[in-house]
Amino acid sequence: MMKTIGITTTIPIECLIAAGCRPVDLNNLFISHQNPSQLLDIAERAGFPLNTCTWIKGIYGACIKHRLETVICVTGGDCSNTLMLMEVLKLKGIKTIPFAYPASPNPEAMQQEMEKLCRTLGTSMKDAEEVRQKLAKPRSLTLELDRMTWEDGSTTGFENHIWLVSTSDFNQDYLRFTREIETFIIDAHRRTPFSSDRLRIGYIGVPPVFANPLYSFVEENNARVVYNEIQRQFAMPCSGTNLSQQYSNYTYPYDTAGRVRDISRQIKLRRIDGVIHYVQSFCHRAISDIIFRTELGIPILTLEGGSDYNINQHLKTRIEAFIDMLERSKIEKGKN
Ligand code: SF4
Repeated sequence: MMKTIGITTTIPIECLIAAGCRPVDLNNLFISHQNPSQLLDIAERAGFPLNTCTWIKGIYGACIKHRLETVICVTGGDCSNTLMLMEVLKLKGIKTIPFAYPASPNPEAMQQEMEKLCRTLGTSMKDAEEVRQKLAKPRSLTLELDRMTWEDGSTTGFENHIWLVSTSDFNQDYLRFTREIETFIIDAHRRTPFSSDRLRIGYIGVPPVFANPLYSFVEENNARVVYNEIQRQFAMPCSGTNLSQQYSNYTYPYDTAGRVRDISRQIKLRRIDGVIHYVQSFCHRAISDIIFRTELGIPILTLEGGSDYNINQHLKTRIEAFIDMLERSKIEKGKN
């Protein structure tokens, strides 16, 4: 039977698949659970402080609930909390394999990290490169779906989010994922597109805990999300010619300046009117809000999510006010 390996965030899953393993993104396992709060309870009962990020607690709960035996913990380029999470998992008898993105996007350093991972898993970079070729199709289909969101207007912000975010592990089975997304795209081509007069919103930051309610609420208010920054990065839009280039072009693990360049290009291409920056409570990445507000030159609404899987009235009012402000400013610009 194929060995299942948990991952704490997007990593070069080509190495895992080449080693005959099935990668499972623990974030997706947590948030798609029928009762995610139950998994948070497992973590809090084990002693995780209340002010630990929901995603970290959810990952821990998912590992325990699904009795995972091995987890690859990303110790560089993602989240400092993962270091302690890894120690606790070890304590609970779960085998942990550390993986660190290099400090800066350097293909040679990336190659060395992936070679180390391949050796640990008992495979080679040559085999991992072959898997890369196999994943080219589902990756390109996901990017086509992304194009349909902003260019054709035929897929919703939530659909865009869910398909792109799923490329971190291709829902544990890339062949099934490929068949499902092919069918989805064929169906979506037959839809009546969204009206072009809706406001166009970009979503940046880590994926939200309240995805469906957020995207739906934006759409109820004559706007729609046409860009999901990190989720799109999971699909590897700049794949280069080999794995070391592909994972060096992936912006999430590196400095915010690289993300700003990527986001700025997409704001222009997708004609985005305003940006929602999602930050997770107790996450160090929230500090990047200072940089985005200085560098992006576009109205930004910063929303913070905790462990509430719905958007409360306070958040709804702020979203409505933001959309209202963007509408007024668009009308003003039209007059000038
Ligand atoms: S949201 Fe922030 S604190 Fe939470 S797991 Fe992700 S990077 Fe870590």
